[in-house]
Amino acid sequence: MTYIIALDGPSGSGKSTLADLLSKRLNIEYLNTGSMYRAVTRRFLELNIKENENDKIREELDNIRMDINKGRIFLNGRDLTDMLRDEEVTANVSWVSANKDVREKLVDLQRNIAKDTSFILDGRDIGTVVFPDARYKFYVTASPRVRAKRRFDQNELAQSLDEIEQAIIKRDEYDSNREIAPLKKADDAILIDNSDLNIEETIDLIMKKMEL
Ligand code: C5P
Repeated sequence: MTYIIALDGPSGSGKSTLADLLSKRLNIEYLNTGSMYRAVTRRFLELNIKENENDKIREELDNIRMDINKGRIFLNGRDLTDMLRDEEVTANVSWVSANKDVREKLVDLQRNIAKDTSFILDGRDIGTVVFPDARYKFYVTASPRVRAKRRFDQNELAQSLDEIEQAIIKRDEYDSNREIAPLKKADDAILIDNSDLNIEETIDLIMKKMEL
């Protein structure tokens, strides 16, 4: 029997590291859905497509073929994996992922990819929209300050801790208040606040909740 683990939560909660480690520990596949939204964002930026240009967005979505292979994301055959984390993509991904047509396309793809294999998926709407019947659902979060500190320590961005914290709060707000598939804990998801836990401790807690 295959099963799905839905791992949702805001940015900086450690979701993707957790999902990656859990997939290895449980020997199941892992899909990082945030990267899929980021890949579409990268493409729209390259084509200079703006928010509200709905006709252009629809037209481009028809042209996009996305393939995922061993954690790498290909758009029309081109590997975009290493171009998804910069500030420009991060600043634009919220409006792209709030678009109804974008979501429809990526949710379909996510359901298809994970349809007959055991998968852990991380994102914002996995337990609420993509796989509402997932066998296991977790909502992982931590305080904005702690999440900002984690980003800051990764040293990827040329921003101060306060700037990162403000950006995180803004993105949370946008993601939580958008009309379609807002960031929200599913009623039946288990809440994991890992403000005071490291990754190993969080994994142990999740495994305990799964009774594994
Ligand atoms: O997880 P990550 O921070 O890479 O996700 C980037 C953005 O993609 C989020 O801020 C959110 O706007 C969007 N997203 C989404 N639904 C998902 C995964 C990500 O809307 N399932």
